[in-house]
Amino acid sequence: MRRGLVVGNWKMNGSLDFIDNWVSQYTSFMKTNTETAICPPFVYISFLRNRLLDSALDIHVGAQDCSIHDDGAYTGEVSASMLRDISCSYVIVGHSERREYHSESNKIVALKAQKVIDVGLLPIVCVGETLREREEGRTKEVVLSQLEAVLSVIGAEKLAAGALAYEPVWAIGTGKTATPEEAQEVHKFLRDSVKSRNPKAAGNLRILYGGSVKPSNAEKLFACPDIDGGLIGGASLKAKDFYAIAQAASSVEFID
Ligand code: PEP
Repeated sequence: MRRGLVVGNWKMNGSLDFIDNWVSQYTSFMKTNTETAICPPFVYISFLRNRLLDSALDIHVGAQDCSIHDDGAYTGEVSASMLRDISCSYVIVGHSERREYHSESNKIVALKAQKVIDVGLLPIVCVGETLREREEGRTKEVVLSQLEAVLSVIGAEKLAAGALAYEPVWAIGTGKTATPEEAQEVHKFLRDSVKSRNPKAAGNLRILYGGSVKPSNAEKLFACPDIDGGLIGGASLKAKDFYAIAQAASSVEFID
């Protein structure tokens, strides 16, 4: 059975006031069936978590990245165990902005996923092709190599405990969304690739779509059989939009 999962990636946005307002607005909405999580910048994780707890909101907190190191002389880095200390549930690894601006290779992403699992947290592993790679007809080749690098280190079962996010780079923050058909084709390909290693894990794995998801396109995307929710950037900054997207995923429930 897969329950819908919608994760907000606030990227480098927010402030104490912003979080206060966001949580206050969210409290006026009814509960959804969808599991939800918000990943703010590191410095706001604890504040957000406390505000959510005070407001009795059932939203997990997560981080946008973690170090491949456990501790030591790595200025500016935050380890997975530190994130566990402050009660994170999820950690995003391999976001395309990390791959692009911080030169994170498939190997590094896999090591990060391993660190997340080692401390008992759940990884959200991002894969996705650039516009050029899509135009060259290399989408499946690219996402498969990103997926396999992670699977070869953590295995399918551990990946299925967290989530996989398909985020075509050309659709992130651009307003361009993959059509439900385009996204479903890649999601099915990813699930089939996991299935060839471990059919049970593939059935349990939640594959999120990310790339300009909004309330107006969420329902059609989440209606696809292999799209189990979303990783939401810009729209997660508006409590109302994030809630509407979470609601759109509330019907995602499959018995395999
Ligand atoms: C993201 O940051 O992972 C993302 C998908 O951003 P957006 O929804 O703004 O495209």
